[in-house]
Amino acid sequence: MVKDKTTIGKKLNGTVIVTYRCNARCSMCNRYKAPSRAEEEISIETIKKLPRMYFTNITGGEPFIRTDLKDIVRELYKKSDRIVISTNGFFTDRIVDLCKEYPEIGIRISIEGLEQTNNEIRGLQNGYQRGYQTLKMLREMGMKDVGFGMTVQDKNAPDLVPLYRISNEMGMEFATASLHNSFYFVEAKNIIHDRPMVAKNFENLINELLRSNSPKKWFRAYFNHGLINYIYSQKRLLPCDMSFDTFFIDPYGDVMPCNGTKDKEVMGNLNTQTWDELWNSPEAEKVRKKVRCCDRDCWMIGSVSPAMHKYIWIPIWWVLRHKFKALFTKHPYSMYELKICRDYRDGKVTKEQLDQCSTCDLNAEVNDGLSEASKAQLKGKTGEEIVDADIAAQIKE
Ligand code: SF4
Repeated sequence: MVKDKTTIGKKLNGTVIVTYRCNARCSMCNRYKAPSRAEEEISIETIKKLPRMYFTNITGGEPFIRTDLKDIVRELYKKSDRIVISTNGFFTDRIVDLCKEYPEIGIRISIEGLEQTNNEIRGLQNGYQRGYQTLKMLREMGMKDVGFGMTVQDKNAPDLVPLYRISNEMGMEFATASLHNSFYFVEAKNIIHDRPMVAKNFENLINELLRSNSPKKWFRAYFNHGLINYIYSQKRLLPCDMSFDTFFIDPYGDVMPCNGTKDKEVMGNLNTQTWDELWNSPEAEKVRKKVRCCDRDCWMIGSVSPAMHKYIWIPIWWVLRHKFKALFTKHPYSMYELKICRDYRDGKVTKEQLDQCSTCDLNAEVNDGLSEASKAQLKGKTGEEIVDADIAAQIKE
């Protein structure tokens, strides 16, 4: 594979949102109601202008709705050391076809719990079976970097450990997240209601991960510990350095620090600017200043993974302490290590106080980050109708 050597400077961590079109109907994300117009979505010409990256995540919407995804991957491979695609796993043939050409690629399929829970949350008919079968096929093809991605909420928290065990038996990666609110999800009302119950399920997962022999899983345990801290609306365990060496680019070519902000924050546009112009612009600096004071305290892998690498001693110290404890007990981790969990248990903090500190805002007007043209197509049609018609036309071709 030919790598791009023309871009000078350090490699970045990038996420490419190739489309806002999605065929799922997830209960915690309204993006499917606000799709991008296919004609406006990021072109190969713009993708060619991206810098060198040590890691690239391709996401959506549902990225496999784009029939030119293979061309996108081909271009990204020239400038990226590792690519992982996040998908709902529905377009099995397209996924398998891409993976035949790029067997070294990573695939994360979002599965939100065991069969019934998953199908209820994702609103995709037969979604669990399709996702599961796709993963199985990829494994049988010899793909190494494949796995589940689960967004934990009240409804699916009891499925967390059972789903982890299934992924473990299949020798797969198991990535977790929790509910977030942002323009990207077109959502401001997401919140965990029964925090101790959800945290307890995370605690059980953390103990399983710590008992394993895989150092990668021990660090995943730390990430999940951070998720408990997050759902109790606390300050992030690690600083957030998004927009410094990490970026997101949306379907319109707008470069943003992350996908966690309330409104879309734009550093520049790669359709009209060069990467260097954009990255070194006053607008980019302005966004970086905002990031420095950001109090949303997200805990998503996109912003945490770079931070875990950068401040590596913090997770290493946490892992060492817990692996030492694991020598003497089967339960080396307790959620009550976090002061906020103890304070909540002891009645020193109320649910209402925690809710207030969260990003959930029942009165917020949600900005969906769509272009004027994408908004215009929603007049008289729903996002679901537009995307369904689009997919039907693709299948006919
Ligand atoms: S905490 Fe970081 S990832 Fe979250 S919104 Fe703020 S800058 Fe973005």
